[in-house]
Amino acid sequence: MKSRPVIIAHRGASGYLPEHTLAAKTLAYAMGADFLEQDVVATRDDQLVVLHDIHLDRTTNVAEVFPDRARSDGRYYVRDFDMDELRGLRVWERFEADGQPVYPERYPPRSGSFRIHTLREELEFVARLNEDAERQVGIYPEIKKPAWHKREGIDITPVMLELLAEFGYRSKNDPICLQCFDADEVVRIRRELGCELPLVQLIADNSWEEAETDYDELRSDVGLERLAEFVDGIGPWFSQLYEDSENGPRSTGLVETAHKNGLVVHPYTFRADSLPDGFADFDELLEFAIGELGIDGLFTDFPDLARRFIEDFPARE
Ligand code: CA
Repeated sequence: MKSRPVIIAHRGASGYLPEHTLAAKTLAYAMGADFLEQDVVATRDDQLVVLHDIHLDRTTNVAEVFPDRARSDGRYYVRDFDMDELRGLRVWERFEADGQPVYPERYPPRSGSFRIHTLREELEFVARLNEDAERQVGIYPEIKKPAWHKREGIDITPVMLELLAEFGYRSKNDPICLQCFDADEVVRIRRELGCELPLVQLIADNSWEEAETDYDELRSDVGLERLAEFVDGIGPWFSQLYEDSENGPRSTGLVETAHKNGLVVHPYTFRADSLPDGFADFDELLEFAIGELGIDGLFTDFPDLARRFIEDFPARE
């Protein structure tokens, strides 16, 4: 019998509270997530912080507090601020360039008293919760844009691996999964840096220009076979796993090929308030992804809904 899929709280319980705040992580923990995700970027004083973007201007009040600190492209970069400066900012629910909320039903725009924290602080926080709880919640850190960080003067990966080791994340059976979109960096992590941690290659769409990686090649049969030499799994965009047909959604074969090569599949991102084409509600989406495709885990903004579905799932068969 296949083990049940793992629930990865995507930036925390971000369907309910602003992403990557400790409040969102606390809620995800309490909702029964198996893993909490951390996206990791570096500050000017080389601190690792938990933020999704290399920019600050879509999730904080940086433009109000530091109006003259944008670069020539009009964006405010985490890398241009010291940690002490970031601590003075408020974290808000994500908004678009024009100020409109990305998800209108979520936490009220530009409100709350949420703050930015370091990766170290989040690791201490998770360790403390795990000490008291009867279960071990894992971490799922993503190295954001390592090539960009290098151009900005910091080799972020070794810094992060060292910090993870300090917190006891050192070997393949530890409750962690490391993720990155940059395929060259993933190879380097395994081969050059000798990292033994469970590793997931994220798969983007080439049009996003996420890294100097050809994702079409990566998710081909040959690409997956080669990937299996370095990684334990893939984190594809859910839209790459299915196509909509007259008879409803059906598999593109990516999950099957990944499984054939011994790779687990953890697609992103499952949102109850932003469903992919071809699905009427969240349960229908999960039914297809888990029941038909047989995914091994999922990134979700709604860990509570995923948990409820998965707990009920065997009864449906
Ligand atoms: Ca991420």
